[in-house]
Amino acid sequence: MTGNQGKLAGIEMDAVLKQVGKKFERKAPDQLKRPSREEAEAAVRTLIAWTGDDPEREGLQDTPRRVVKAFEQLYSGYFEDPFSHLERVFEDVGGYHDIVMVRGIPFNSFCEHHMLPFIGQAHIAYYPADGVVGLSKLARVVDIFAKRLQTQEHLTSQIASAIDDTLAPRGIAVMLEAEHQCMTMRGVQKQGVSTITTQFTGIFQDEPAEQAKFMSLVRGGSR
Ligand SMILES: [Zn+2]
Repeated sequence: MTGNQGKLAGIEMDAVLKQVGKKFERKAPDQLKRPSREEAEAAVRTLIAWTGDDPEREGLQDTPRRVVKAFEQLYSGYFEDPFSHLERVFEDVGGYHDIVMVRGIPFNSFCEHHMLPFIGQAHIAYYPADGVVGLSKLARVVDIFAKRLQTQEHLTSQIASAIDDTLAPRGIAVMLEAEHQCMTMRGVQKQGVSTITTQFTGIFQDEPAEQAKFMSLVRGGSR
């Protein structure tokens, strides 16, 4: 299912999210046996040899150590809790009830099929019910989910459900646009092709005019 999950006629968003959630159910990092750093470095040496190069030559000797260190950063999202960033809700919003939108949050993630980067931007909007969250927190949530092995569809729905679970706003709209290096670097090699995924809940799901408003804000219609 690509994008527009919120538009499925007659199916409650919650049910869809639950289905999606089941399909993608994962074990928590502490339920998995994590290999040692030495084992991870040995695996990188194996991959270097598999490419046809010599892991023992001078330029490559320190590479496994660096790669494993880079992995710690690039996949740090497994060891952070996105929900903790959304816990602090500001309830005094001075009567503000209109749309809150954060546009153009940059992210880097890795496709779970090839472990190659997909890089793009996230746009998030919601209609507050009982409060708002700090705007930087939304960017943190994107970052934490992005720094895991992902599909773009799953990343989109995880961001939406995390906001829904914690803030319970009247509606959420999430759009991700990204370029996948597994498409641009290998196989079809199409530069500049971007993949767009969306997820709408609440007002955004029910009212096409709200979706249109979101789209026009994404495209810079705020002028
Ligand atoms: Zn891929």
